[in-house]
Amino acid sequence: MTSWIETANAPHCHFPIQNLPYGVFARNGEEPRCGVALGDMVVDMAVLESVGLLKAGGTDTVFDKPALNDFMGLGKTSWDSIREQLTSLFAKGGNDALSGNDILKSKTLVPMSAAQMFLPFTVSEYTDFYAGKQHAMNIGTILRGAENALPPNWLHIPIGYNGRASTVVVSGTDIKRPLGQTRAPGAQVPSFKACARLDIELEMGAVVGTPGTMGQPITVQEADDMIFGYVLLNDWSARDIQGWEYQPLGPFQAKAFATSISPWVVTKAALESFRANTPEREKELLPYLNEPGPMIYDIDLQAYIQPEGADKATLLCHTNYNRMYYSAAQQLTHHAIGGCKMNTGDLLGSGTISGPGKSEFGSLMELTWGGTEPITLDSGESRRFIEDGDTLTLTGWAQGDGFRIGFGECTGKILPAPDFPVSDIKA
Ligand code: MN
Repeated sequence: MTSWIETANAPHCHFPIQNLPYGVFARNGEEPRCGVALGDMVVDMAVLESVGLLKAGGTDTVFDKPALNDFMGLGKTSWDSIREQLTSLFAKGGNDALSGNDILKSKTLVPMSAAQMFLPFTVSEYTDFYAGKQHAMNIGTILRGAENALPPNWLHIPIGYNGRASTVVVSGTDIKRPLGQTRAPGAQVPSFKACARLDIELEMGAVVGTPGTMGQPITVQEADDMIFGYVLLNDWSARDIQGWEYQPLGPFQAKAFATSISPWVVTKAALESFRANTPEREKELLPYLNEPGPMIYDIDLQAYIQPEGADKATLLCHTNYNRMYYSAAQQLTHHAIGGCKMNTGDLLGSGTISGPGKSEFGSLMELTWGGTEPITLDSGESRRFIEDGDTLTLTGWAQGDGFRIGFGECTGKILPAPDFPVSDIKA
């Protein structure tokens, strides 16, 4: 299938007609509203809804809003219907209500270069998991040695912690280096300073569409049905702050300062033909966590770093979402099993995605083995961790036959730590 928007038909384009990911955008001076990415255009869904060419099925309009939440809350029948309506409007040889109307086209199609992107949905709450086995093995080996790498619960529970929704930001948002409390190796007392071991975590985020009910557990199939789609997610991490604070309750300030997500939510429908099985279980799971079918996806993922002034970015790693040990559906089921209510707009981080072999490690902590093995960038500079001025970019796509279901980019630049009136804050 091809689109009459010709840029959507290029084989490496992230946004062909098979994708149709949703986001929130604004033209100069206008209010943010919902849009869909197609080729190098953003389609204004609020305009199409206002002229009756998109009908989401509820009683109210849902697209002239600065967030996807109202649409996401309508559920699968509406999601499938809108996807069908968009496909018909934009496929070559389809419905000509838009393609044959030049005035409406000029109101509806906005060049991506002229669109400012916003957070695609209001993040209700954010939970981050630790569900990539290679990552857990690597981090465990660095911190505790190979014998004690995996905690005893790891093969039985998708481990997670409750993060901060308030500092989830859209790609392109600059991030200030965090201040915090750390303790140097061998030191007796901690010190207060700017993070010196700032890192990325290459993750996918699952976006909850339909809500659950407090006190009512959900099955893995129900959890999969509740998921609206997926984004790229960078779980920025302050390793030195984390190392001092994380026992016994897990990360706190080390992860609370920022989480970046890509602006386009790629729907589960677009990813349907890329479903993959989680790897063979090393320990049998308790039955409530068993998956009735394949629930992870074959999605190529890459991370890049570009120092300030460098003319190009250096590839840090190339891995795949199919490396996950637990799916987002299993994580959602586990999250709700004790009675926790899940909301429209909840965001679930997958956990850092690493594969076997250094070229597949999804964090600098792993790539430089805890900072002991610096890497050399294409510019000739070396890095143990992120420096001020560095821009980190994640990208990803599912490779189809002649097309890509792309996620675009999730990017962020690190700025120096904030000024703060305490004498000993510099690293
Ligand atoms: Mn993480």
